[in-house]
Amino acid sequence: MLPRRIFVANRGEIVARVARTAAALGIDTVAVAARHAVPRFLAQEVTRLHLVAQESSDFYLDADNLIAIAKAESCDALHPGYGFLAENAAFAEKVTAAGLTWIGPAATTIAQMGDKHAARQIAMAAKVAVVPAVFIAADSSVAATQKILAAFSSQHGLPVIIKAVAGGGGKGMRVVHDAQQLLAAVQATAREAQTLYRNAALLVEKYIATPRHIEVQIVGDQQGQLIVLGERECSLQRRFQKIVEEAPATCLAETQRQGLHDAAQRLGRHVAYYSTGTVEFLFNAEQGEFYFLEMNTRLQVEHTVTEEVFGVDLVAAQIKIAAGESLDPLLCSKRKPGGHSIQVRIYAEDATCDFLPAPGRVLAFHPYHGTGIRWEIGCEAARDVSPFFDPLLAKLIATAEKRALAISRLQHGLARTFIAGVKTNIAFLQTLLAHENFQQAHVSINFVAQNITTLLQTMQDNAQQTELEEIAEVLLEHYGAEGQDRGMARIFAKKTRDTAVMILQSYTDDEVQAGCGIYAEVSFFHFVLQRQAQGMAVTVGCGGRLHHAATAPGTWEAETHTSAAGTLTAPVPGRVAAVNVKARDDVEEGTVCVIIESMKMEFALKAPGAGSVQEVRVAAGDLVSDGQTLVVFVAE
Ligand code: ADP
Repeated sequence: MLPRRIFVANRGEIVARVARTAAALGIDTVAVAARHAVPRFLAQEVTRLHLVAQESSDFYLDADNLIAIAKAESCDALHPGYGFLAENAAFAEKVTAAGLTWIGPAATTIAQMGDKHAARQIAMAAKVAVVPAVFIAADSSVAATQKILAAFSSQHGLPVIIKAVAGGGGKGMRVVHDAQQLLAAVQATAREAQTLYRNAALLVEKYIATPRHIEVQIVGDQQGQLIVLGERECSLQRRFQKIVEEAPATCLAETQRQGLHDAAQRLGRHVAYYSTGTVEFLFNAEQGEFYFLEMNTRLQVEHTVTEEVFGVDLVAAQIKIAAGESLDPLLCSKRKPGGHSIQVRIYAEDATCDFLPAPGRVLAFHPYHGTGIRWEIGCEAARDVSPFFDPLLAKLIATAEKRALAISRLQHGLARTFIAGVKTNIAFLQTLLAHENFQQAHVSINFVAQNITTLLQTMQDNAQQTELEEIAEVLLEHYGAEGQDRGMARIFAKKTRDTAVMILQSYTDDEVQAGCGIYAEVSFFHFVLQRQAQGMAVTVGCGGRLHHAATAPGTWEAETHTSAAGTLTAPVPGRVAAVNVKARDDVEEGTVCVIIESMKMEFALKAPGAGSVQEVRVAAGDLVSDGQTLVVFVAE
């Protein structure tokens, strides 16, 4: 019997994704949201929201509490989504022990596959090729480690990649090219692994020079049937994490594809796998060889492209399999993909700054909808992108008969999508999609890293902003003028150098004035205007490019680092790294009073003017939200 009510123990787009399928199956869903920031995209999909005071990453890692909520909300099943506890065998066991249906594979399988070393052993037993590697136990002495490394590098040479056996999500890995640095790198990775995963055991693997990342989707039931639903190529990555994913993989000859599918199926059968799972491989196109990388015992972020080309619902399959149903004959009849599907992950991040997360407040989000376009959305206007979670904003998926058309739809979709308030990787994704190598499907996992300088240069060259500058200027002039009826949609035109800016729609949304228009009768643009202490700032987006401008020069930049006279407020949500002042201290204009850490960035917050400190409202280590008052001053 299918569950009646599923608790989705996760956050963001995947919760909405699971809830949508559950609703289609007539099943209720419950999910968690912070009381002060309930996202609309969640509220409209789930049956019930369980509101909490604050959403922290610890919250989604607290197995007992999550299970208690599921029970209190009368749920009879739990979907873990991806990330957090999705691949935590102890959690799966606890969920089952609490009398809830775990929507995922057996806890024993999760445990076996969650350890990269154990997973390799199983792959070998299932006669699946693996990358040459050695295991370094958590308690290996320096002398023993040195001996193992020397033996391995004399047999396989360098470079190698060092991985925490308990690692995942591209974290806890290091590539080493120089023998001199090998031992130190192994020790550093072990220390990190101990802190991150409480397990210092490592694998040192031969580093495959320019492989492709190809993964096979498997689906099995509890009766022992197991099918392959094609493969995906996910070679375009940054920081060992995927950003563009597609199905099918175009680089495979039919015999290679069959070999890969067979290997994944052998492995799945070997562990009596049930639910959806992914077997990841590195594929060396020149030699036509593939090596088992790891198995993911959950739904993947990129499951969407498989759904598109096979016309299936993998979440529905998960739910039915967990309920004990055998594989749907319709699902089993899906042998060949139809068409081509590509997903891009839109992140709040700064491509020009090593793809560092760029948390902050989203001011506007307008996804483009069209034929062959699918969205999975995890953000919206007037909500913060938290520094404590993965900054994935949304996934854009385009599908078409042929790959070239899928790319073209994706490009059109990105160009017509507008996200303001936070930095995004949209322009970077556009640059990638337009690159000849991507168009020809000639990429490897190192493509982004190896071409980063030219990619960023192209991205900057494409960001020619004359028209955006003109639009911004007109908007600031129009909306900045006193006595304008700003709340009303209006149509007006203004001549500037023979071209016209025409506003088609304008509305007030939360604290911003937003709208859209056309420029010179061709370029469709979106905009948001924000009132600031000194004037007004505008963001204009057109063709996937963004431009910021402000009435008082510099206010846009300044706004994120200093506050209006009298107080110091947090420009982004984050953790207080240091407080340099105390009550009654004298400060000069520019004295650094508080340092906030938001992901890996530091924000030094300076006194807005000379004066003395009246009150300090935070201490080092405190979590602060966007706009929270940190220090109050008395002017000199
Ligand atoms: P995680 O579990 O953190 O995702 P994986 O083992 O799946 O780690 O590896 C993630 C990515 O790291 C791969 O997609 C690939 O880009 C790179 N990688 C991993 N192992 C190797 C290797 N032996 N040679 C080259 N690149 C590798």
